[in-house]
Amino acid sequence: MKRQSGYSFVFLLIILLLAGAIWVSFSTKRDNNYSRDDFQHAAEAGDVASIVIEQNKEVPTGTIHVTTKSFSTYRFSVTDVREIESYARSKGIAIRVDNVPESNWFLMYVLPGLVVLIIFVFFYSMMANNQSGGVSNRMMNFGKSRAQMVTDSKTTFANVAGLREEKDDLDEVVDFLKDPGKYTEMGARIPKGILLEGMPGTGKTLLAKAIAGEAKVPFFFISGSDFVEMFVGVGASRVRDLFADAKKNSPCIVFIDEIDAVARRRGAGMGGGHDEREQTLNQLLVEMDGFEENEGIIVMAATNRVDILDPAILRPGRFDRKITVSAPDVQGREAILKLHAEKKHLGDDVDLKELARTTAGFTGADLENLLNEAAIKAAREKRAYINDEDVRKSFIKVGIGTEKRSHLITERDRKITAYHESGHAILMHLLPLTGSVYTVSVIPTGEGAAGYMMPVPDNDDQHQTKEQLRQRLMVTLGGRVAEEIIFGDVSTGASSDIKKATKVARSMVTRFGMSPLGLICYEDDDNEVFIGRDLAHAKTTSEAKAAEIDEEVKHIIDGCYQEAKRILEENLQILHNCAALLIEKERIGREEFEALFVAETA
Ligand code: ADP
Ligand code: ZN
Repeated sequence: MKRQSGYSFVFLLIILLLAGAIWVSFSTKRDNNYSRDDFQHAAEAGDVASIVIEQNKEVPTGTIHVTTKSFSTYRFSVTDVREIESYARSKGIAIRVDNVPESNWFLMYVLPGLVVLIIFVFFYSMMANNQSGGVSNRMMNFGKSRAQMVTDSKTTFANVAGLREEKDDLDEVVDFLKDPGKYTEMGARIPKGILLEGMPGTGKTLLAKAIAGEAKVPFFFISGSDFVEMFVGVGASRVRDLFADAKKNSPCIVFIDEIDAVARRRGAGMGGGHDEREQTLNQLLVEMDGFEENEGIIVMAATNRVDILDPAILRPGRFDRKITVSAPDVQGREAILKLHAEKKHLGDDVDLKELARTTAGFTGADLENLLNEAAIKAAREKRAYINDEDVRKSFIKVGIGTEKRSHLITERDRKITAYHESGHAILMHLLPLTGSVYTVSVIPTGEGAAGYMMPVPDNDDQHQTKEQLRQRLMVTLGGRVAEEIIFGDVSTGASSDIKKATKVARSMVTRFGMSPLGLICYEDDDNEVFIGRDLAHAKTTSEAKAAEIDEEVKHIIDGCYQEAKRILEENLQILHNCAALLIEKERIGREEFEALFVAETA
């Protein structure tokens, strides 16, 4: 409190000084419109009592101060004071000659000095405040972290519906925060940084808050964009400040939302604020490297774009644990709806199970929003409970508002997607060189994909053999193949698969020497794009050769397509079973998926 009144005092002083300076500059120019002619008229009329001539040094210019017989004063400037002097003498007017003071000493010396002093005092007290971590005062605290601290979070895992695996994963973090000492004794290593990945509204913040609530530790919340300011160094200073606060309050959770705002891969994005962002990011890394694993601070960060993150933040000892928080499947949506409906009055014509089924692609936030809209509508119509119509109207509103196209998903679309993804997954499982399937899903991803198949992450082989690449191609083509087998027709949904397959096949021919065209490099790494490259390229590869390359690419893709088709046709029943299971559950994990094959062979 004391510090704040100190600030108000400094502020008051600045304002007073400014006002003073303005007043001075105005007051000295008050009689600007008195001219030489006016003076002459007055002199002729015998009205002038005396004048003071202020002559500039060495030149004849100067200012004439006129005092009339009625004691009014005026002044005007002239280019030659000598002329005025002789004129005044001829009129018998009293004259005094002064030298012009060099300049106004107050304005020239004292005021700037004062301003510098004030600025100095201002910054000094600001820094002192930062170090002591006093009461924050928004305007005054540029370098201060903007983090909000919640000390008694009421949010616990009970407030998080669904997300069972994610909660299981985070249980040990809760346990650690409850008693870091236990882990220190055992010499166990707990991650410092956990990266939560998933689209907005899937409950990442909620999860982090719930961990703090479960462990009863303080929760620091800040958004990555709060670090990014116009001024270089501010972000870094905020990071420093945040971690200083966190250390004082450990054990605790520091949650950084939208981490991509600070931790974007260097060189990505265009212009502006590079230095600032890099400094901020470096400071963040320094802080994370600087505290011990068992110090009791867990840094959690959320992003929707792991792909644009600087790899430096994912290194061991930093954000080395990644948890994907995906949009809820049908069961998860039902659980979320039930949770948020608890405090609302639902009419008995509202069927949450049915609502869960029709909201594929909705996130937890969308669902909460939907029920909230319904409640508002009911309240507006002065009804004590929410009815089915409220829900249906809100569904359309929220669905359109969030640009989720999911409410347009027809049974037919869903069936096509289910077979498509099953095709990818089954081939990946059956082909020996392509790894294992982790999840298959027909939940729209928000980035336009109708579904996805995720492989078990494995260490990427340094070298891929030709056969490995061919099998990967088959997996990529598998979605399209399945559509053709089942529907006898194909959809537009496979366009990105086709692009990917073409790229792989093309590389096999032009870069890896895996075709009859031989061990010739027809193309450089296309990581770097620069203008003119394609022109140069056109010269090294003749038209005829280009046609030959295209022919080889097509040959490889056709071969893989046929082989993929044969495999899927041999496993038609599994394809049907897998698609049916997907339609029912929307997302299936590794175990359930692999069980499909056991059941079939047994
Ligand atoms: P994110 O941080 O991933 O963008 P939030 O955690 O901010 O998403 O979620 C926003 C809101 O959506 C939450 O406050 C909560 O009301 C609701 N919500 C999201 N996921 C869930 C969930 N799994 N269970 C219950 N509510 C959820
Ligand atoms: Zn596909």
